[in-house]
Amino acid sequence: MSKVLIIGAGGVGGVVTHKCAQLPEVFKEIILASRTEAKCKAIAAQLDRPIKTAQVDADNVPELVALLTQEKPDLVINVALPYQDLTIMDACLEAGVHYLDTANYEPLDTAKFEYKWQWAYQEKFEKAGLTALLGSGFDPGATNVFTAYLAKHYLDEVHELDIIDVNGGDHGYPFATNFSPEINIREVTAECRHWENGEFVTTPAMSKKARFTCPEGVGEYDIYRMYHEELESLAKHIPTLKRAQFWMSFSDNYLKHLEVLGNVGMTSIEPIEYNGQQIVPIQLLAKLLPDPSSLGPRTKGKTCIGCVARGIKDGKEKVVYIYNICDHQACYQEVKSQAISYTTGVPAMIGAKMMLEGKWLKPGVWNMEQFDPDPFLADMNEHGLPWKVIELDSFNLDH
Ligand code: NDP
Repeated sequence: MSKVLIIGAGGVGGVVTHKCAQLPEVFKEIILASRTEAKCKAIAAQLDRPIKTAQVDADNVPELVALLTQEKPDLVINVALPYQDLTIMDACLEAGVHYLDTANYEPLDTAKFEYKWQWAYQEKFEKAGLTALLGSGFDPGATNVFTAYLAKHYLDEVHELDIIDVNGGDHGYPFATNFSPEINIREVTAECRHWENGEFVTTPAMSKKARFTCPEGVGEYDIYRMYHEELESLAKHIPTLKRAQFWMSFSDNYLKHLEVLGNVGMTSIEPIEYNGQQIVPIQLLAKLLPDPSSLGPRTKGKTCIGCVARGIKDGKEKVVYIYNICDHQACYQEVKSQAISYTTGVPAMIGAKMMLEGKWLKPGVWNMEQFDPDPFLADMNEHGLPWKVIELDSFNLDH
């Protein structure tokens, strides 16, 4: 197996294509397809080896099936938008192709961040003898694998998990999002949910704040508790978890803009009628904001994303922190993209590599923590996302 079809030519699609192209022994043939083929061609022109490009509307199953039947890839790497997950999964089933994505399916009209629609495909993929790997980005993705790694090697039981995503980068714009504005704003404005004592507890968006000091001099940041989709699968697959929370850093400036945009209705996903046309405010806003794939050359600073797990080892309490630090400018030098797309695109390539090499191939629909974390994490060290584990003497975000 060695032929991949990448769907989506945005910030993440660019990185995945670069990283796959760097490994011709694994990815012998690459096709990059998207709604706007010109964007695929622009990415292809940056590479040292030739790849094919194609135009496809991933909302259209027959169109996808036609492309898959013509090209016969072994695997689809879906880095379009979460709205296309189910149509691409349907097409993969019809054409007999393995599937990977980096974000859970989202219906257009409601922001849910739930896996139920994709988990419902379990039997179909199993019967077809095909593997679907869900959420192979950084968070979800590497964070799920980090958690599985700590559970496998460092703790007998994981009781508390804090996933902390800090972006210490600055792109110099008054307001921009580092990945798809629509998805990013939906995520940040959604109510917070965290896992506590066997159930999800709901609190208002951005209502819990803490201060976190990143290792290796990356700095000290305000982080806010929010819901993130990996909490759902981790709570399901790591039954010893008593509490699981997700935190993300935001600058005061970002929050101020978001508050104003929210107050005037610009972040709404409810369509409004304007001059006889249906307009979804958040989609209009996304058009006005800088394209995330254009932030690369301007963004300076580092990201620090990792998981702090508290649990029991040999009868004693232990707290361990596993993290990666990634430099925006170093990413740009390598693949012409900032670290947010880079930290998503590299795990997508590694997930695909795991599948093509047969290490993570099992008929059905799987989240990342359900496979052996060791080969994946070995590849993160090899392919641009080195990580470290440290033991913490004390850790407390509850203040
Ligand atoms: P962008 O908006 O930059 O790119 C999305 C790409 O998908 C664009 O090229 C777009 O085409 C294409 N696309 C959209 N709709 C269709 C369609 N119907 N048919 C074909 N192509 C389509 O997003 P990103 O690259 O930043 O993000 C890609 C994915 O990665 C998203 O699902 C996002 O949620 C996920 N992500 C995951 C993260 C993680 O850590 N797990 C972190 C960051 C992102 P066009 O150019 O024509 O608009």
